[in-house]
Amino acid sequence: MNGPGETKMMPAGRTFGGAHRGAPLAAGDEDDAGWMRQALLLAQRAREAGEVPVGAVLVRDGAVLGEGWNCPIARSDPSAHAEVMALRAAASRAGNYRLPGATLYVTLEPCVMCAGAILHARLARVVFGALDPKGGAAGSVFTVLGTERLNHRVEVQGGCLGEACAEVLQLFFQSRRNAARPSG
Ligand code: ZN
Repeated sequence: MNGPGETKMMPAGRTFGGAHRGAPLAAGDEDDAGWMRQALLLAQRAREAGEVPVGAVLVRDGAVLGEGWNCPIARSDPSAHAEVMALRAAASRAGNYRLPGATLYVTLEPCVMCAGAILHARLARVVFGALDPKGGAAGSVFTVLGTERLNHRVEVQGGCLGEACAEVLQLFFQSRRNAARPSG
C-alpha cells in the first residue's frame, strides 16, 4: 500500500518522447538502452551502500569516460550525486572540465545542482530514466535542462528504461519504509 507523501518515481516516456513501451526501438534507442543498463548497475552499488540508488555513466565516441553513483552519505558530501561523480571522473580523465560531444546517462531525472553541473560541462546530451516529480530539473519541477534562456543547450531525453529505473527507486523506498515500521 502506498502511504501519503511517498516519493513516487514515474517512467517518463510519454512526457519526453523517449522510448515508448511497446514501440519498436530504433538503433540509437538500442544504444541508449545499453548505456542505461550500465547506469542501472551503478545504481545497485549505491543501493548496496544504503544510498538512494541512482547511477550515471558518461559516454563519448562510444566509450565510457566516467561513471558515478549516488554517495552523499558515505562521503559526507551533499554534492556527491551520481551525475556529479560521473562528471568529475570524466573531466579528470579528459583533463578538461568541459566535455563537449558527451552524453550522460542517468537513471533519475537530474536535480537543479546536477543540471547546473551538466551545463557547465557543456555536455551534448542527457538521457535519463525515471522522472523525479519532487525535484527534477529537466521539466518535472524546474526546467534548467532544456531552457532557452541560457547560452548552452543540451539535448534532453527522458524515459529510457524508465520503468526499470523507477522500480529500483520504488523498491528502495519501500524497503526503507518497511524497516522503519515497528514490528508486531
Ligand atoms: Zn543531483
